[in-house]
Amino acid sequence: MTITDRSRILSDTSATGRVSGGDARTANISAGRALADLLRTTLGPKGLDKMLVGSDGKVVVTNDGASMLDRLDIEQPIATVLVETASQQEDRIGDGTTTAVVLAGELLATAEDLLDRGLHPTTIVDGYHRAAQRAVEALDQDAIVIDGDDPERLREVARTTITGKWDAEATAFLADRVVETVTAIRGDRAVDFRKITRKTAPGGSVFDAQVLDGLLIDMAESSTDVVSPEPGPPRRIEGATVALVDDQLTIETPTGGGPVDVESAADLERFRAYEDEVYASQVERLADVDADVVFCQKSIDDRVRYLLAKEGILAVERTRQDELYKLGRATGARYVASVDELTPAHTGRAGVVERRTVGATQFTVVRDAEGFDQVSLLLRGGTAHVADEVKRLVDDCFHVLKLVIEEGRVVPGAGAAEAHVAQALRDYATGVPRREQLAIEAFADSLDVIPRTLAETAGLDPVDSLVELRSRHHRGDRRAGLALDTGEVTDVVERGVVEPAAVKRRAIYSAAEAATLVLRVDEVAPGATDRDDHGHAEEDHAHGPGELVESTDGYPWAVGHSMGHDH
Ligand code: ADP
Ligand code: MG
Repeated sequence: MTITDRSRILSDTSATGRVSGGDARTANISAGRALADLLRTTLGPKGLDKMLVGSDGKVVVTNDGASMLDRLDIEQPIATVLVETASQQEDRIGDGTTTAVVLAGELLATAEDLLDRGLHPTTIVDGYHRAAQRAVEALDQDAIVIDGDDPERLREVARTTITGKWDAEATAFLADRVVETVTAIRGDRAVDFRKITRKTAPGGSVFDAQVLDGLLIDMAESSTDVVSPEPGPPRRIEGATVALVDDQLTIETPTGGGPVDVESAADLERFRAYEDEVYASQVERLADVDADVVFCQKSIDDRVRYLLAKEGILAVERTRQDELYKLGRATGARYVASVDELTPAHTGRAGVVERRTVGATQFTVVRDAEGFDQVSLLLRGGTAHVADEVKRLVDDCFHVLKLVIEEGRVVPGAGAAEAHVAQALRDYATGVPRREQLAIEAFADSLDVIPRTLAETAGLDPVDSLVELRSRHHRGDRRAGLALDTGEVTDVVERGVVEPAAVKRRAIYSAAEAATLVLRVDEVAPGATDRDDHGHAEEDHAHGPGELVESTDGYPWAVGHSMGHDH
């Protein structure tokens, strides 16, 4: 199918008219297959990139299935349901999205044959469900238990799961940095995202990314010494007493922030005096508790900052709520709603508080705090597009590592797991009633799409590769997969191509779920429009590549990823 054919099917809004029975099913199956076809050639490390041109003329080059689905303008109702399934895979698991969609498309293609041969959709749906169940059992039985403390193993998993989504060298480098980050804080077979901070500083190369011990806090622009008067605040404090203020250190202007109404010079004088008094008392309060650093959730008046600097107190304003929370955890400080409430009992301790400049961005690093370990990954990226892809990769990688460390089980990649599962299904199919057997065999055949596609993208002969792969698995060689650079069928575990069992498991379930959903629908009819939903979808699409560069306020990670809400 040509690209134009595909886009015509996928953007077919006329499909929102009423259609039923076989016609509806045929149309839906084509839409599902078109979507899968679109993603197919991006699968695996040798997958090709796609260039997406937005209606606004923005061009995005990507190899990541989830990233593509996000940006495509898909209107066909069933296709949007498939996209939804895929994005759940992405959000919950962080990987395996392309696999899920491609497998779903193949399940639909084989289902079409079965329908032509007179099988009832319900029989196919039941058979697919049984097959998925059995497939996952076979996968789990054969999963390899790994030592979550072995960084080399973790690196292998991290690289396999994200390699091919983008520039190979960069992904490997970033995968290693993510392993370094996770290894730094990991305890007891668990990865606590609350101990990890991800930041980006615009400019610099992807290879400038670094893992920093401690918690990295952005300095809002006005906290920097650009505006800070003499004497400058200290750059580095050891054994720091930390205060957290969930308020501002400035005088609230009455009535909606308008200028204070002063009638005479005397009034002005009195107002200044009043301000001085309040500011002096705020500073005094901080000095009284021996604070070395104060993190303030709102703004700090320049005069207060000046006074604080004179006292040798570093003031950081507009600290995000979640960062205050992390600081609280890390230092043992409790935040107060107003600086007047501050007592020594509220303060916390940090080994070192240090200011750092990376590119044009200023950070405060808080580390060696008593009792809590924190680690930060500072990412760099020259352009918005790069930063966007880096963010996706790194986030996916964190999720995948969490899965693999917590479950401790991997399966061989490079088509090996699919070939193994297909073999198990063919064995299983012989014992079930004839009609369902056909569906289970169809499921097994559909799984071949993964190794076949990997072979195709690498320029190998897909038929030869599949025949060899099948015969190796038939002989019980469960780790046999495709070495894409040499074309051999070999033990891929030895080559370090392993994926978390959870990714594969979820991809198989998602694919089965999506395909059976399409098969069950026998009518597409216009329903009431859910405006809210639509608005939301538009917003999602809008989170395009421009976003990260615009976020020069330093909080690009704040945008709607589950890691951000994970506390
Ligand atoms: P997905 O979105 O499904 O994760 P990818 O484009 O990341 O799609 O491709 C994943 C597939 O690529 C998996 O089947 C995985 O085993 C395979 N793969 C990854 N690295 C290698 C490698 N070095 N050699 C062969 N296959 C690989
Ligand atoms: Mg992947």
